[in-house]
Amino acid sequence: MGLIVQKFGGSSVADADKLRNVARIITETYRRGHKVVVVLSAQGDTTDDLIAKAQEINRRPSKREMDMLLSTGEQISCSLCAMAIEAMGYPVVSLTGWQAGVQSNSAYGNARIKRVDTQRILNELDRRCIVIVTGFQGINKYGDITTLGRGGSDTSAVALAASLHADLCQIYTDVDGVYTADPRLVPQAHKLAEITFDEMLELATLGAQVLHNRSVEMAKRYNVNLEVLSSFSGNPGTQVKEVVKTMEKSHVSGIAKDKNIARLALVDLADEPGIAFRIFSLLSKNNINVDIILQSIGRGDKKDISFTVAKSDAEAAKKILEENRDYIGFNSIDVNENVAKVSIVGAGMINNPGVAAGMFEALFSAGINIHMISTSEIKVSVLVDLEDADRAVQVTHNKFFNDPAMQNN
Ligand code: ASP
Ligand code: MG
Repeated sequence: MGLIVQKFGGSSVADADKLRNVARIITETYRRGHKVVVVLSAQGDTTDDLIAKAQEINRRPSKREMDMLLSTGEQISCSLCAMAIEAMGYPVVSLTGWQAGVQSNSAYGNARIKRVDTQRILNELDRRCIVIVTGFQGINKYGDITTLGRGGSDTSAVALAASLHADLCQIYTDVDGVYTADPRLVPQAHKLAEITFDEMLELATLGAQVLHNRSVEMAKRYNVNLEVLSSFSGNPGTQVKEVVKTMEKSHVSGIAKDKNIARLALVDLADEPGIAFRIFSLLSKNNINVDIILQSIGRGDKKDISFTVAKSDAEAAKKILEENRDYIGFNSIDVNENVAKVSIVGAGMINNPGVAAGMFEALFSAGINIHMISTSEIKVSVLVDLEDADRAVQVTHNKFFNDPAMQNN
C-alpha cells in the first residue's frame, strides 16, 4: 500500500466512455488500498479548441487572459471524472491547481512550478478520498491562474508525486509505453521495458512525443519513479528510472525525429575572435534557444557559422541578426525550414565508437545526405532534409534493431 499519482492525457479522457474507463482504473487502484491522487489533462482537443475561440475574439490576447481560458479545459475533465467516480460509489474530490496548492512563477503561458503546498491534498487523502487535480495549471504570487506550457500536465503530475513523496507516478496515455521509434513510422519498433531518466530526457527533448521534457527533468531531480503506460490496453508500460538493468549491453535505446526546427547560416563572417560570442549572446538575450552549431574552418580571413533553432523562432532570429549586421559583420544570412533532426539515444553509447558510424552507414546506404552532426555522451543527432526524415528514422532503426551485426556489438 502506498501513495500513487496517476496522470491521464487528453485522449484518455476524451469522452464519457473513456472517462468511465479512467474512473475504473482509478477506483481499482484505490480498492487495492492505495492513496490515489489523479492529474488530468483537458479532454481531447479542448485546449486547441479554446485557443481557436480566443483567436476569433482577439488576435493578440494577453497571456493572463489566455491562461484564464485554457485552464478551464482541465477543470471540465476533472469535475466530470469526479462525477464518474461518485456514480461508482467512491469518495472523491476534484481540485483546481490553486485549491491543490500548486504555486508557480508568473510566466503566463509557460509557468514553472515553484512548490506545492500539499496540506489540502493530504487532508483529503486522510479522509480516504480520491483526489483529482487539474493538470497544466498553477497560481502565481498575484493570485492569478497560470498554465505550464503545452503538454504541461505531465509536469503537474511529477511535481505532485515529488511533493507528496509518492511511491509511483503513472503517466497513462494512448500508447503502451516508450518505443524504440514512433510505431506509426516504424512498424517493427518495440516497447522498452525500462529506460533511464537521461535517455528519456533526450528522447522527450529530441521529439519523441511521450512525455513533456520538463516532467522528466523533474522526475530525475527528485528521483520520482515514473511509469508510462496505456489507459486502454492493460499491458505493462515502460519504467523510467535512474539505472536500468540492460544498460551495459544496449547502446541505442531509441530514435527520435524533430521536424520543428530550422537551420540558419551566416556566410562570410570575419575569422577572428568574438564573432560567435556576438551572435549567440544576441540570440540568448532574446530568449532564442540554439541547438546544433557548426562553424566552418576559415578560408582566407572568412568563415561561416550555421545553427538550428525551433521553427517558431526562425523569423525572429533572422530579424535580430539582420538588425545587427554591422555589429556582427556578415555577408548574407540563409534560413532553411525544410530540415529535420534525427537522433539516436542510448546510455551505453559513449564507450562505443561504432554507434555513430552505424548511423552514418545506414544513412549513406539510403542515399541520405547529412547537413550537420552533433553528439553528446548519450546521443548522436543529424540534420537532414525534411523529405528524408521519415526514411532516416526507418533505416536507422533497421540498422540498430534488425541488423544482426549491430546487435551485440
Ligand atoms: N491540455 C494541455 C495541452 O493540451 C495540457 C496537457 O495536455 O498536458 O497542452
Ligand atoms: Mg491536452
